[in-house]
Amino acid sequence: MPRARPLLAAALAAVLAAPPAAARERAEIPERYRWNLADLFPSDAAWRGARDDLAKRVPALAAHRGRLGESAEALRRALDDAFGARLALERLFVYASARSDEDTRAAAPREMHQSAQQLAVDLDSALSWLRPEILALDPARVRGFLAREQGLTPYRFFLEDVLRRKPHTLGAGEERVAAEASSFASAGSDVAGVLRDADLPWPTVKLSTGEEVRLDPAGYSLHRASPVRADRDRVFDAFYASLSAYERTLGASLYATVKAHLFERNARGFRSALEAALFRDAIPPAVYTQLLADVRRSLPTLHRYLALRKRMLGLEKLRYQDLYVPIVPAAEMRFEPEDARALTLAAVTPLGPEYVQGLKGGFESGWTDYLPSTGKRSGAYSTGVYGVHPYQLLNFNGRYDDLSTLAHEAGHSMHTWLAHRTQPYPTADYSIFVAEVASTLNENLLLHHMLGKAKDDQTRLFLLGSYLDSMRTTLFRQTQFAEFELALHEKAEKGETLTGENLSRLYLEIARRIYGHEAGACEVPDLVATEWAFVPHFHLNFYVYQYATSLVAAMTFAKGIREEAPRGATKARDAYLGLLRAGGSKFPIDLLRDAGVDMTTSKPFDAAMAEMNAIMDQMERILARQDGARGARR
Ligand SMILES: [Zn+2]
Repeated sequence: MPRARPLLAAALAAVLAAPPAAARERAEIPERYRWNLADLFPSDAAWRGARDDLAKRVPALAAHRGRLGESAEALRRALDDAFGARLALERLFVYASARSDEDTRAAAPREMHQSAQQLAVDLDSALSWLRPEILALDPARVRGFLAREQGLTPYRFFLEDVLRRKPHTLGAGEERVAAEASSFASAGSDVAGVLRDADLPWPTVKLSTGEEVRLDPAGYSLHRASPVRADRDRVFDAFYASLSAYERTLGASLYATVKAHLFERNARGFRSALEAALFRDAIPPAVYTQLLADVRRSLPTLHRYLALRKRMLGLEKLRYQDLYVPIVPAAEMRFEPEDARALTLAAVTPLGPEYVQGLKGGFESGWTDYLPSTGKRSGAYSTGVYGVHPYQLLNFNGRYDDLSTLAHEAGHSMHTWLAHRTQPYPTADYSIFVAEVASTLNENLLLHHMLGKAKDDQTRLFLLGSYLDSMRTTLFRQTQFAEFELALHEKAEKGETLTGENLSRLYLEIARRIYGHEAGACEVPDLVATEWAFVPHFHLNFYVYQYATSLVAAMTFAKGIREEAPRGATKARDAYLGLLRAGGSKFPIDLLRDAGVDMTTSKPFDAAMAEMNAIMDQMERILARQDGARGARR
C-alpha cells in the first residue's frame, strides 16, 4: 500500500527530531527551494476530482471476485485493476500528505490527508479477498497462467510471494477471525502513543542557561546532548523520574503488543515470534541472531569508542548520561542549500554519471522542499510516486547535519528513481531492509568526500567524530534494542508475564552488559532501566535491527566503490546500482547477495568494525599530533 513502512519510519524520525528553529511563513520561501507538487496534480481541485474518480472505481473491483481461476486473462485483468487502483491511491496519498506537511496547521490539506487515508482503508477492504483467493488456487494452475500469459509477468514476484504464504494460511473461516482479531493488534501501541504524546505529564527543568525546557520525548532527545554535564544530569533525572512513574502502564501496553505477535505466531504456525515477523520479507531468523552475536563479540570496539569519548570529553568517568553530547563539538561549517547540493553531487561522483546526472536533474526540477517554515512538519523524509518522481521534505538549517540529511534523503530518492525507471510498477517498491542501505551509503561517501577537502585537524576530528557517534547509535544502540526485543518475546513465549518492572530489569541487564558497566567502560545507572518505555519502535515487531544491518551493508558497498573508483574500475559500483534498480523484484537478502554483500555471513559486519577502528586510529593520530604540538609550545 502507499509506502506504509517508509512513511512510518519517517514519522518516527520526525517525532525524534528537534523542532526547526524559528521559521518564515511558507509564502516567503523562494520557489527554487520548494518542491513542485503540480507534477502530481495541477491543483487541489484536480486532486479532488481524481479522488472522487477512484472512490467510484473501488466498488467495481468486486466484479473480479471469485473469477481469478477462470483463466490467465481473468487473473491479469483483476491484477491490472487492483494495482492500477493502488497506484492511483498512492498518487492521491502522496500529494495530500505532502500538502498537509507543508503546513500542518492548515485544515483543508489535513482533510485531504484524512480523506486519502479513508480511501486507503476502503481500497484495502475492497481487495481483502484477493490474496486468499489466489492462495485457494492450485499453485500449478497459477504457474501455468504465468507461463501462458505475458501480461502476468510483472506480477510474477507478487504471485509467488502470495503462494509462499500457503503453509501459514488458514481456512476461510479462521482467516476471517484472524482478520477481525488483527484490529486489536495495535491497541498496545495506541495506548502507549496517547500516553507519550498527550497524557503523560512530562517535566520541565531549568538549564544552567536559565532556560526552562519541557522534557517530552523530543525535548529529552534534544537536551540529553547538552554540553553541560550538570544539565545532562538534570535532564536525565527529571525525564526518567516521570517515565518510571508510568512504567507499569507502559509495560502493560508493550505486553499487549507482544501478545498480538504471539497470536500471529500461534495462529499461523510459526516456531517463534521472530520467525513470524521476519517471514514477511523472507529474512532468515539467523540474520537477526547473527547480528546480536556479531555485536557481542565486537564489544571491545564499542568500549574503545567509549574510552575515546571519555578522553575527548575530558571526563574522569563516563556515564550513560554522557553518550549524547557530540564527541567533537560541531565545527563552524555553514552551508546554503546550493552548497549542500554541490557537495552531495561531488560526494556521489563514485556512483557514476547516470546517478550524478539523475540527482542533479532532480535537484533542479522540484524534487526537494528545503527550508523550514511556520507549521511545516519537522524532520526529513523521501517519498515518491511511480511514473512521476521522488520527493524530499527537509528542514535545512545550514549545519553539517543538514548537509548529511540531504545526502541521506538523496540516497532514498535515487533508489526510488532508479527502481521506478527499471521496474514495472508491481516490483518497483523496495523494502525497508534495503532502503536504508541507499541512504547511509551516501552518508559514508559524504564523510570521505568531506575528509578529502578538510583543511585542518579540527574539521577532520569533527567529521570522523560525528560518523563515529552515528555508528554508536545506529549499529550498537539499535542492536541493543534488537536484543531486548528478542529477549522479551522469548520470555513471553516461555509463558512469563511481562510487567513494566521485569521489562526494566531485563533492559538494564542488557544495557549494562553492552556498555561494560562492570568493567568500568561506561556506568549505566539504575534510572536508565526504563529507557525502553519511551521508544515507540518496540511496538513495530522486530523492526529496529534493520537500521544496523543496513548500515553494515552500506559500509561494505561504499568501501568497494571508494576503493575501485581511483582505478577507474566500476564493478562494485555497477553491482550496487543493480541493487537499486532491482527495487522490490526479489527478497532483500537475495538482492544484496546478487550485488555482492552476503548478509547471512559476518563478513560485512567485520568490515564495518574494521572501518570503525580505522576511524578511531585516525582520530587518535590527530589527538597525538595535537598533544605533540601543545607539548612543543609549552
Ligand atoms: Zn532513511
